[in-house]
Amino acid sequence: MSQPRLLILGPPGAGKGTQSANIADEYDVSHVTTGDALRANKDMDISDMDTEYDTPREYMEAGDLVPDAVVNAIVDEALDSADGFVLDGYPRNPEQAEELAGMTDLDVVLSLSVSREELVDRLTGRRVCDDCGASYHVEFNQPETEGVCGECGGKLIQREDDDEESVRNRLDVFDENTAPVIDHYEDHDGFVAIDGEQPPDEVWSDIRRAIDERTE
Ligand code: ADP
Ligand code: ADP
Ligand code: ZN
Repeated sequence: MSQPRLLILGPPGAGKGTQSANIADEYDVSHVTTGDALRANKDMDISDMDTEYDTPREYMEAGDLVPDAVVNAIVDEALDSADGFVLDGYPRNPEQAEELAGMTDLDVVLSLSVSREELVDRLTGRRVCDDCGASYHVEFNQPETEGVCGECGGKLIQREDDDEESVRNRLDVFDENTAPVIDHYEDHDGFVAIDGEQPPDEVWSDIRRAIDERTE
């Protein structure tokens, strides 16, 4: 088959970004992530889209969803130019899922599950590369040199929305808006549930096996 089209689902902190980087490397597909795309365009003017705020920033800092019209346009454009992809961070509500169904078919749908207490620990200890977006953790996934990205040498920072208040709100937004989307994908032919609570290497080997089985 041509390059695989993959969707990775799971709550904030489940390891979607970490595992998407492995997938993009191994299968030579684009990592399409709405979180990174929005962070790179936090101050874009969205006032013509009839939104409550004029830029994505206000939504993101609170941990609320950025309006669908903004996010749908980002994904539509990114998928159009990708030959194979791993889509991470989208869809986050049923309306976005319907929009995605109109854009592309999917070969594999991976769903990572992790308990809420573990998610809070992962997110509040997360550090990300300011240049390439790679994810690290102060305890669970330390870089070789403290504060420095092992992929690109960039500086590691804490995301503004990884404070405890925004983290708890994002987990509530997930339960309310995104959990129903995951239930819906359970009927997809390519759906596979992955235990995301295991160490990163074990999660990766489960994911690789699942993709290989479904894309021969
Ligand atoms: P997401 O993209 O789903 O929000 P990330 O990939 O950014 O999640 O991971 C969230 C945090 O948890 C990061 O600090 C990352 O280093 C860490 N992490 C990722 N996978 C694991 C794992 N399997 N076990 C422990 N920590 C992990
Ligand atoms: P995490 O993996 O920690 O949940 P992301 O990097 O995926 O964080 O997303 C960060 C923020 O970007 C979200 O809290 C939300 O404000 C916005 N965002 C990302 N993807 C979407 C989406 N599909 N729909 C609406 N807002 C989104
Ligand atoms: Zn980097």
